[in-house]
Amino acid sequence: MTTQGAAQQPDARPPAFLEPEHFDDVIQILRRRGYRTIGPTRRDGAIVYDEIESAQDLPVGWTDEQSPGRYRVRPRGDHALFAYASAAHAWKRFLHPPNLQLWRAQRTNGHVELVADSAPPPRYAFVGVRACDLEAIRRLDQVMMDGPYVDHVYRALRRDAFLVAVNCCDPSGTCFCVSMGTGPRVTGLADLVLTEMVGAGRHFLTLAAGTASGQEVLDELGRRAATDEECRLADASVEAAAQNMGRSLAVDGLREALANSPEHPRWEHVSKRCLTCGSCTLSCPTCFCSTVEDVTALRGDATERRRLWDTCFSVEFSYLHGGSVRLSPRSRYRQWLTHKFSTWHDQFGVGGCVGCGRCITWCPVGIDVTEEASVIRQAVPLPGSTGPMTE
Ligand code: SF4
Ligand code: SF4
Repeated sequence: MTTQGAAQQPDARPPAFLEPEHFDDVIQILRRRGYRTIGPTRRDGAIVYDEIESAQDLPVGWTDEQSPGRYRVRPRGDHALFAYASAAHAWKRFLHPPNLQLWRAQRTNGHVELVADSAPPPRYAFVGVRACDLEAIRRLDQVMMDGPYVDHVYRALRRDAFLVAVNCCDPSGTCFCVSMGTGPRVTGLADLVLTEMVGAGRHFLTLAAGTASGQEVLDELGRRAATDEECRLADASVEAAAQNMGRSLAVDGLREALANSPEHPRWEHVSKRCLTCGSCTLSCPTCFCSTVEDVTALRGDATERRRLWDTCFSVEFSYLHGGSVRLSPRSRYRQWLTHKFSTWHDQFGVGGCVGCGRCITWCPVGIDVTEEASVIRQAVPLPGSTGPMTE
């Protein structure tokens, strides 16, 4: 959602009906309005987010299979546009770039001057944002621009971003958004909310406006309203997805259990498998940690400072004047999981996990956060209770 459009709610109108072969009209309207359209596309054997110029760039007729440590794409045998779960990338790579120049200085004739980057930030339209990922963007907003410490690069990119969200009808084997209260139905504000209905001999889209900007796009699209029956069919697809989660996680008491379990033997157990590769944090849509590097040209006439994504799984990340404070894999895994499900609440009033399942899919050894968190939760009695937590 454009953050500027947040205060402007559209009139409540029924969703528009759209034939899938006309979805390209939405993309072209956004492009004519000056947006750089980013959406799912198939590349390198995966569905990733990248620039799309037309609906032909979408993974039409493809879906994914995800399980711990495993990801595959396969054809579905139809022409569905959005029938897959979380893409390999998270949207954060566009709002919080993985490798960013912060400043550059040039020495000319003995004088050093800062070279300004005068290029305006791109105006992104994100097409196909899942409910879980919409919530992840909201949580990044809290960290990067809604608090006292504003990341100006993030805010400049986020401020004008147009969000086309999609109700998820095809969860994967690693999804657990229902447990985290973040999906599969879009509940956060987006400029447009799309539902794709495929099945029973029907294939159509419904599009609802969430902001005044979204309503403008719908008005330009000029489509008829979806009928009650079409809305019911689309709604049933989302309901079915909610019953079809690949995983679940009981979260009551989890925050307290993690906070009270720094010495739980499960940390040692998982550390025997964890490679501390950081793949989970890089693929996670809410992980935001970074480091800073200075790079000087060999000629000595230029230098630049860059910000790079970092991970709490690296030894260097916890380096504090003289040494790292989290030397063991055990302490680094504990830091990550405890932050996601416990101390994030202390900082931001919500958890840091939206249940997208990426960290499970993209962990090379298939470590499953829902399993690790459940073991800790079940072993620790809550204050006032008489025994371990159970389901
Ligand atoms: S911790 Fe895992 S499941 Fe939760 S938001 Fe991050 S990648 Fe998704
Ligand atoms: S949990 Fe998996 S993805 Fe994350 S650091 Fe360990 S091995 Fe890598």
